[in-house]
Amino acid sequence: MTSPTSHVPSRLRARIQAQARYRCGYCLRHQDLLGMPLTIDHIIPQVAGGQTIEENLWLACHRCNRNKSAQTHALDPETGERIGLFNPRQQILSEHFKWNQDGTHILGTTPCGRATVIALNLNNAEIVLAPQRWVSVGWWPPQD
Ligand SMILES: [Zn+2]
Repeated sequence: MTSPTSHVPSRLRARIQAQARYRCGYCLRHQDLLGMPLTIDHIIPQVAGGQTIEENLWLACHRCNRNKSAQTHALDPETGERIGLFNPRQQILSEHFKWNQDGTHILGTTPCGRATVIALNLNNAEIVLAPQRWVSVGWWPPQD
């Protein structure tokens, strides 16, 4: 979560945008598909002591950033175990998530993936509507 008062210098912001390839680190939506700039995500939220340094920053869409809020951990719905959320800088998305058969829902394949899907509400009723259209024109799901 990024507080409205946190300042990210423009050169650092540009580096994060390039590293994240202008995609949300959690739902993979590209800025161009959303039609609005992505936010800077503090992977470890500032309220949990996360700093505004490159190692702790990534891009997130407004929805994922808001849903993530101050969370750092969530429960794996299969085991009930408390698990650290997916870290888009240190972990590889395809190792923790996959797309469902029609490409509209993201599914956790590990405790981390499952906990993150729940914590960020990655398949809420609104968010899966656009991919239903994107799939039909070949824009979704992302292939990498
Ligand atoms: Zn997102």
